[in-house]
Amino acid sequence: MKEYDDARNVLSTLLEELNSRLDNIIHDVRHDQSPLEKDFAEQATQNENNEVIDHLGNSARAEIDQIKLAIANIDSGHYGICEACAEPISKERLAAIPYTCQCIKCASQAGPKR
Ligand SMILES: [Zn+2]
Repeated sequence: MKEYDDARNVLSTLLEELNSRLDNIIHDVRHDQSPLEKDFAEQATQNENNEVIDHLGNSARAEIDQIKLAIANIDSGHYGICEACAEPISKERLAAIPYTCQCIKCASQAGPKR
């Protein structure tokens, strides 16, 4: 698994960045909120903020999950294998998207909705 040491380092760094970004998203929005939430306008603003947190937080969390999975796959020796067709994922694709779990063929077949 030595050949994926670099990828593992990149993924670990990405994971740290995403975790701190997620913390910042949550912290920033909460920080802007007034401690008094009785006012209706305040509540509406807060709900909007919560939606922003949800949206940004969810995409960050989804990415974090993918990265964690990729690191787990490196450790278990399954990294770089397409989860859909079990063919090796090209080195170029892994270099571009180190946390991908599908080869370019399956990823493009899956379409933009996935
Ligand atoms: Zn595939």
